[in-house]
Amino acid sequence: MNSIAIDGPAGAGKSSIAKALSKRLGYIYIDTGAMYRAVALFFLENNVADGTDSRIESLLDKLEISIKYEDGAQKVILNGEDVTGKLRLEEIGKLASKFSAIGIVREKLVALQRKLAQKENVVMDGRDIGTVVLPNANLKIYLSASSKVRAKRRYLELLEKGHTDLDINDIEDEIIKRDEADMNRKISPLKQADDAYYLDSSDITLEEVVSKILSMVKEER
Ligand code: C5P
Repeated sequence: MNSIAIDGPAGAGKSSIAKALSKRLGYIYIDTGAMYRAVALFFLENNVADGTDSRIESLLDKLEISIKYEDGAQKVILNGEDVTGKLRLEEIGKLASKFSAIGIVREKLVALQRKLAQKENVVMDGRDIGTVVLPNANLKIYLSASSKVRAKRRYLELLEKGHTDLDINDIEDEIIKRDEADMNRKISPLKQADDAYYLDSSDITLEEVVSKILSMVKEER
């Protein structure tokens, strides 16, 4: 099976790029961040405040996450319910970052992600795909952009989804804090894999990034 791993900080354009790439290549797109967000939602619904809660292990046994596709879009199913529409708020991103630092949470999701990549050609995006989940990926990209550009993208994404009462400076502060937590956690921190290509999408369009990656895919073949 072929795989493309895309890692990078919040709002760098990973999911838009991964979606476009998967369409062009006929691969499946797997948004691993959405899985961590679904875990966060599950813990939130069960009133788990932080990683020290003694119920985490037993709750994880009751947690069933799967993904399905509707018109090419990934849907996340949490214990039988499609929760996709509840995952994008920054509040859930922040919680996802907190709970994603827990070893047993990562073990469960990494196993699921690897299983998916064994069955299909995939473009998978996240924080630890090139370093941990798919160390033998055919192509690894580390995608970044300035925090201003990333905040603006997140702002526009939320606006388009109908959210109001948004402050772009607050969004920038939140994503900077979240990146710091993701880069400095003990288990599987966000970092560029040694064999990943670094791309900065601050001053080029996402379509240009997609073209660049497609030419890299051709070179790899
Ligand atoms: O990519 P997204 O912003 O949806 O990810 C939400 C959070 O989930 C990240 O901030 C990170 O803490 C966590 N995550 C992770 N490993 C991944 C994908 C996401 O730890 N592979």
